[in-house]
Amino acid sequence: MIFEEILTACGFSKGELEGGSLHVHTPVDGSRIASLKTDTTADVERAVSASNEAFRQWRRVPAPRRGELVRLLGEELRAEKENLGRLVTLECGKIYQEGLGEVQEMIDICDFAVGLSRQLYGLTIASERPGHAMRETWHPMGVCGVISAFNFPVAVWSWNTAIALVCGNSVLWKPSEKSPLTALACQKIFERAVARFGDAPDNLLQVLVGGRDVGSAMVESKDVAIVSATGSTRMGHTVGVKVAERFGRSILELGGNNAMIVSGSADLEMALRAIVFSAVGTAGQRCTSLRRLIVHESIYDALVPRLKDAYSGLPIGNPLEDGVLVGPLIDADAKGAMQSALDRARAEGGIVHGGEPVQVESCLGASYMAPAIVEMPDQSDVVRHETFAPILYVMKYTELDEAIGMQNAVPQGLSSCIFTTDVREAEEFLSDVGSDCGIANVNIGPSGAEIGGAFGGEKETGGGRESGSDAWKAYMRRQTNTVNYSRELPLAQGIKFDI
Ligand code: NAD
Repeated sequence: MIFEEILTACGFSKGELEGGSLHVHTPVDGSRIASLKTDTTADVERAVSASNEAFRQWRRVPAPRRGELVRLLGEELRAEKENLGRLVTLECGKIYQEGLGEVQEMIDICDFAVGLSRQLYGLTIASERPGHAMRETWHPMGVCGVISAFNFPVAVWSWNTAIALVCGNSVLWKPSEKSPLTALACQKIFERAVARFGDAPDNLLQVLVGGRDVGSAMVESKDVAIVSATGSTRMGHTVGVKVAERFGRSILELGGNNAMIVSGSADLEMALRAIVFSAVGTAGQRCTSLRRLIVHESIYDALVPRLKDAYSGLPIGNPLEDGVLVGPLIDADAKGAMQSALDRARAEGGIVHGGEPVQVESCLGASYMAPAIVEMPDQSDVVRHETFAPILYVMKYTELDEAIGMQNAVPQGLSSCIFTTDVREAEEFLSDVGSDCGIANVNIGPSGAEIGGAFGGEKETGGGRESGSDAWKAYMRRQTNTVNYSRELPLAQGIKFDI
């Protein structure tokens, strides 16, 4: 019943949620909450063409005015924060506090993008020729296709959309087939902002419902100028290659395998809180979740037993209920993947604490798991692989160089951190010979980034950057302009070419 109330509060009618072939299940209790109609390849083609038409009109609107639409979107999101936050919890299973946090992140990026709409700065560059001016200007790109993962079902869309819109692009969104309802709810919210804005072109945002085939059709269309894809490295490998084949632009935000180094000088109270939040928050289903803990041998015996203690008291249960800190995994496949990773870890010499299935009253069809701590003799194969579940591998180190080497010796390069009170260690970790990740923190866990910085990572994480800083440049076309205001025609590099 409560599920129905959440859906109704987000503006869904019964008819919208029935009759289709895409069955949406809530991870809260495993029950089916909707059966949606999916888009076909022909629908994708039509949507791309309508999106291109919207782009052609939208690029003529001055950027600060485009910012006004994003400002209105932010206002609508503020009004819907609780409803949308609850729907995030219902559809992807993160606890309600984290659902609210995700919507707050959407509001924050809207605020950021509104300011940005007056700051899409270019450069002026000194020309080597007399009477010449050189500058760099930025222009809208076209249709921005967004592919998103189930675990941040709405924030990732907003990072891309708020920035893409002020940059003058239109947006086509293919959400995860596991979380299409939050996307449709966002579309309704967006339409309210458009109605208040008044003269935005039709189809500035369209949502495409479906699985890989629908995403693939969007990716293959040469009329989609930018593909911003968030998800597994496997997905990014396919999507990145397809977009590159047609010389499109991709922004890839893929898997992570994030580590924390806890040095001998660390403040263990702070480290403990940071470890638990970043390893078990969102039930270990954040791209930035803490997966590897690299602990100095001198404090291993002080830290690890306390960590096990903290894990044993974690409230696991229905994520809509107050006080719960660990909700369910997204589905039975995720549970199976966690169990097989733990089996592999045992086979590779690990000692597993926790990690067993948990029965939650009235949620028996769901996949609740106790978070696991696994003490590993070394960084074996299973540790180097991203398992999207609350498994924390713990290893010892002696020298900082060795710890940084371990931190970097995985295929992924998203987020990393060190807990230390030694400035030398902190600076070395952040230096050219330190962490090789897109995000490197000191005395803060690897997850829960603010929107003001550029977000993304290296190696198999894909290299893309989204959100703050100058990530907006990936959504625009850079143009170099040289203007000759003299009465001569001197050539660059002093070349003589008299006719
Ligand atoms: P997934 O790769 O299974 O799916 C992600 C999206 O890609 C879905 O919308 C899916 O339909 C689509 N997709 C899959 N294959 C495709 C293809 N061949 N062509 C076009 N679209 C395709 O990922 P998931 O299970 O939803 O999410 C978990 C993964 O996402 C983890 O690896 C996590 O680390 C990663 N993730 C990364 C970030 C980041 O910012 N780096 C953020 C969130 C999640």
